[in-house]
Amino acid sequence: MYSETVMDHFKNPRNVGEIENPDGVGEVGNPVCGDIMKIFLKIENNIVVDAKFKTFGCGAAIASSSMATELVRGKSLEDAWKLSNKAVAEALDGLPPIKMHCSVLAEEGIHKAINDYRVKHGLEPWQESSSHSHEHGEDPVCQQ
Ligand SMILES: [Zn+2]
Repeated sequence: MYSETVMDHFKNPRNVGEIENPDGVGEVGNPVCGDIMKIFLKIENNIVVDAKFKTFGCGAAIASSSMATELVRGKSLEDAWKLSNKAVAEALDGLPPIKMHCSVLAEEGIHKAINDYRVKHGLEPWQESSSHSHEHGEDPVCQQ
């Protein structure tokens, strides 16, 4: 069901844990599926210098947060914001369709963490595109 890359990131997730005094924190969850994801970002000069996560959830949610934190490291806030759930899924060599919502969670967690940072610095939060909001709550329960 999962690609080798997904299994690798699920079994050996990168960047697990918390950042002390993070610049941005984003916590997201999907009540239907039970995944809870917390993203921590360290930001210096508009660059994501460190990213970590804590995720309780299915294999796809853990692999997505692992890959997403890898992908945003070293990126500017603008580029990190543009990281889409599809890019995360592609980097994982694909996710089964019923697991795509787990990669959406990673994108949302990073967005929340970036906006947490922006608000703390007196900046306007960026607007979440509503393109995939309809995908939420329609997935079958994910237990894996
Ligand atoms: Zn899930």
